[in-house]
Amino acid sequence: MADGRFAPSPTGSLHVGNLRTALLSWLYARVDGGRFLVRVEDLDPVASREELVGEHLGDIAALGLHHDGPVLRQSDPDTRARHEAAIAQLEADGALYPCFCSRREIREASQAAHGPLPEGAYPGTCRHLTDAERADRAATRPERPPSLRVRADDAVVTVRDRLHGEHTGVVDDFVVRRGDGVPAYNLAVVVDDAHQGIAEVVRGDDLLEGTPRQAWLCDRLGLPRPRWVHVPLVVGPDGERLAKRHGSVTRSELAVHGIEATDLLGRMGASLGLASRGERVDAATLLARFDPDEVPREPWVFDAPM
Ligand code: GLU
Repeated sequence: MADGRFAPSPTGSLHVGNLRTALLSWLYARVDGGRFLVRVEDLDPVASREELVGEHLGDIAALGLHHDGPVLRQSDPDTRARHEAAIAQLEADGALYPCFCSRREIREASQAAHGPLPEGAYPGTCRHLTDAERADRAATRPERPPSLRVRADDAVVTVRDRLHGEHTGVVDDFVVRRGDGVPAYNLAVVVDDAHQGIAEVVRGDDLLEGTPRQAWLCDRLGLPRPRWVHVPLVVGPDGERLAKRHGSVTRSELAVHGIEATDLLGRMGASLGLASRGERVDAATLLARFDPDEVPREPWVFDAPM
């Protein structure tokens, strides 16, 4: 039995790709009797929109993906206190340093860097600053407080994924707290999944690349690593990741074309080999047919009505 979750960021409406990931998270959790939890990833006060929280929860409910317990919000003071406690633990462990680089400086430095890190990774510019240099940088840029980065020492970390097998990555010195004080996604997701007792993380495979960072954090914080299942994305007929420009892609837009919840579940189910074309089904029917080891590895091409 493995508890799972769906953790949308309220920064845009959920499209068919996000809804299919939600369905898969629910199926993986429920297939062996685990709890299914929902977490609102409203960490970023600027990007998050309150009206989208209700919309997302409404979408999940409309598809019949009932969740257990209260919805956890990342903006909740108790949640934020847990993020800060983890940052303090890393700090006490000597695993963090302040970074004064601007985005442009990072871009330029990472282009010039050679070594084991993937493109775009932070090359460690501020890692070896002396205390005097730090004080100097802080004094010359008071309007831009430093972010906090981990000292990962180019650790090579291998994660196991239920669909992708082993995935190995070099961990760069990623940010755990932004200059504006907001905890970074990687930190928050690891702390929150551990707090919620999530044993299996199901999410889009665009996030596989960053997973070694999260495994590194789990190890460093003494938290159990969850199992990961990175599921394929949904693309438009042009092969690009599904987006608004492809047509009607959200639940309410599709409803305007007469595609209601059971129809949508039928289409998503068909893409997973769990329903036949044109079949209308409910979530429970898909669950009864679901085999966690038979999930297609290829992206699903969704031809959105215009
Ligand atoms: N909040 C993230 C997103 O909407 C998902 C994070 C995760 O599932 O780990 O892309």
